Amino acid sequence: MASHDETYQLLCDQAKEAALIDSIQQLLEWDERTKMPSTGGAYRADQAAYLSGLTHQKQTDAKIGGWLDELAESSLAAKPDSQTAAVIRLLRRDYDKKVRLPQSLVEELTRTAVRGQQAWAEAREADDFAKFRPLLEKTVDLKRQEAAALGYETTPYDALLDQYEPGETAANVGRVLMGLRDALVPLVQAISDSSTRPDASVLAREYPVVAQETFGKQAAAEIGFDFDAGRLDVTHHPFCVTLGPRDVRLTTRYDPRSFNDGLFSILHEAGHGIYEQGLPDDQFGIPLAEFVSMAIHESQSRMWENQVGRSRSFWEYFFPLAQKAFPAALNGVELSTFYDAINEVQPSLIRVEADEVTYNLHILIRFELEKAMIEDDLQVADLPAAWNEKYEHYLGIVPPSDADGVLQDVHWSAGLFGYFPTYAMGNLYAAQFFAQAQKDLGDFDASFRQGKFGELREWLRTKIHQHGRRYSPAQLVERISGAPLSHEPLMEQLQEKFGKVYGL
Ligand code: ZN
Repeated sequence: MASHDETYQLLCDQAKEAALIDSIQQLLEWDERTKMPSTGGAYRADQAAYLSGLTHQKQTDAKIGGWLDELAESSLAAKPDSQTAAVIRLLRRDYDKKVRLPQSLVEELTRTAVRGQQAWAEAREADDFAKFRPLLEKTVDLKRQEAAALGYETTPYDALLDQYEPGETAANVGRVLMGLRDALVPLVQAISDSSTRPDASVLAREYPVVAQETFGKQAAAEIGFDFDAGRLDVTHHPFCVTLGPRDVRLTTRYDPRSFNDGLFSILHEAGHGIYEQGLPDDQFGIPLAEFVSMAIHESQSRMWENQVGRSRSFWEYFFPLAQKAFPAALNGVELSTFYDAINEVQPSLIRVEADEVTYNLHILIRFELEKAMIEDDLQVADLPAAWNEKYEHYLGIVPPSDADGVLQDVHWSAGLFGYFPTYAMGNLYAAQFFAQAQKDLGDFDASFRQGKFGELREWLRTKIHQHGRRYSPAQLVERISGAPLSHEPLMEQLQEKFGKVYGL
């Protein structure tokens, strides 16, 4: 009979093999979203489905259950803080979730997601919610079945949320987001009432794409993305993906008439990439080298994009370089004009274009609506009216069309329920971590002003990246800041910064 050490090795090898197959699928998906001609789409879908089936087989093999049972009783699991205990605990969690879902439901969810996205794209194009409604009704029904199969204590929404944010609950998300809402709405109102208005027109001048790429790469490299172990390519909807140890891909898009689009996407994705590059390479394929959760991942991208990339000290270093890179657009422009412009706040209809202040209200609206749909308190037929009502209530604007309203995001059509809150929680984690980093290391302004970002990056490596999934999001934020997730650090930072920009 094999020793426990040998069993543990078998367990890790099995997980690494699943990760190997999955990494091939990621490469195909990266190619699909950056290089592939659209005519390759149908066969690519077959390739992806084949590989995801193989990965699922590897992850649900019955012998994994036997190994986990054996190891649970062994010395390897005895000390909860040890690396081996963490791996056993996390692989048990993953395995139990995967085997609870019947294969037929998994396949139906996948098929419906593909058809749902097609129906959504057509409905959005035609500005006709009715075209999407039957598929969305079916998706909500399937997600409720999925939640029932996964199991939950309080609300089926918790089962869905847990897939992106392990251990998180709707009650806690609600608590944090309501606190944020109560503090945020008066700030948005004060900004709207302010007579100070940044002039953002400088950001819509000519920004040649080649110069944007060079400048963006320089900025990503200086904050710490390692281009010897990564690349930057062009796509429609920017993302970051890891294809294997020391191979992290960033993507962005460029608009020759917009400074913001390309550069802030690059900083955002580089933030994700720096996290991925900070995970331990030698453990690739097991939970010690995997990211904690979607919200923790988003905290890393948002911190480099917002707390760092939209700070004055960051631009005291980078603005002269930007003026050299874009002389036609920026010569003669004052740093303060530029800084105010990149921090303009404007309640708007579209989530992905929203500023740092109003963004979280877009998420709150989606959280309330999707939770109500999953809990059967809101029927899909009533969704467009409910959407418009919430936009009027929280942001004071009513979408003129469903295309710019309820049909703007792909998520629900793809079956992503419980995903939206991770964006707002990412913003909150970013603020809480950044506040703690400043407590630990002192104010960063002096070093940012000199183009030095290594101190913050190393702090993130030590506190977050190197641990992989060893700690849950809730444990991580407690370990780092000594407190649970709160809206207060973000609100303090927003009030301080936008109070100055808007003279409040
Ligand atoms: Zn992101």
